[in-house]
Amino acid sequence: MRHVIALDVGGTGIKAALVGTEAPPSDGTPARPPVLLHEARRPTGRERGPEAVVDTILDFAAELRDLGAQRYGLPAAAAGVAVPGIIDEADGTAVYAANLGWRDVPLRALLSERLGGVPVALGHDVRTGGLAEGRIGAGKGADRFVFLPLGTGIAAAIGIGGRIEAGAHGSAGEIGHIVVRPQGAPCGCGQRGCLETLASASAVGRAWAAACGDPDATAADAAKAVESGDPRAVAVWQEAVDALADGLVTCLTLLDPRTLIIGGGLAEAGDTLFAPLREAVRRRVTFQPLPPIVPAALGDAAGCLGAGLLARDLLSTEVTA
Ligand SMILES: [Zn+2]
Repeated sequence: MRHVIALDVGGTGIKAALVGTEAPPSDGTPARPPVLLHEARRPTGRERGPEAVVDTILDFAAELRDLGAQRYGLPAAAAGVAVPGIIDEADGTAVYAANLGWRDVPLRALLSERLGGVPVALGHDVRTGGLAEGRIGAGKGADRFVFLPLGTGIAAAIGIGGRIEAGAHGSAGEIGHIVVRPQGAPCGCGQRGCLETLASASAVGRAWAAACGDPDATAADAAKAVESGDPRAVAVWQEAVDALADGLVTCLTLLDPRTLIIGGGLAEAGDTLFAPLREAVRRRVTFQPLPPIVPAALGDAAGCLGAGLLARDLLSTEVTA
């Protein structure tokens, strides 16, 4: 079966997959959605240093190429890789990734060389996940959407007409660093009161750990405590929901999306998050059209599926070029 290699590189783990892709139909109708044929994951091991992480990615991709060749009788036709940080998608370079220690890593060229010259696409992790949510997930059919995963940090993918806006410098969508509490706690970016210091899954976990006295408490624990009616948890949760609603109103005032898709660890709380969040956003809008606020559909497969779509897009360009 024709397939591509997809990699989703995170701060703690690397997910990889062989993604089955049909050749795009010649009559211009959309290709069928990609399918995950084989999935694997391994630790990023960033404590070993930036170069070791690059080696792990290249080795992982080469193993998948061999597996695909063995299983399907032909090697992968292309590869896509999603990485965090600042990406130059045109150049194929991972310009800067604080949590991996990367500066100017020519990842696309390195991967293509290791994979015997197949075309490789490099994408930003959140934008790549957003591409998948927009084409085959919760934003399917929406001409304009925003995908906002709430995880260790917060960033957004801005979907416009089937593609994701990267900005002039590859920095579009950094909604986690919109200031929602001007006198708030310091953020890693140097500013104070950024949205991600209040409403990321990590921030909610930290706030709940401080409130309940268990240093290992997580955002998922906070959600459970909210569901059981613990007033301390309800207070922590409401603070995060209010901050998030303030950030979302800025986002929809600026972008007027058809759909607002929320994903990441915090969205796993389901209605415990979505019910108060929809209400908090509804209370804040005045003239702005209120889009549906929906959970992401692809979970943590979004990055790999998106990387598979990036790889498949390379093939369709080749066909039409
Ligand atoms: Zn910040």
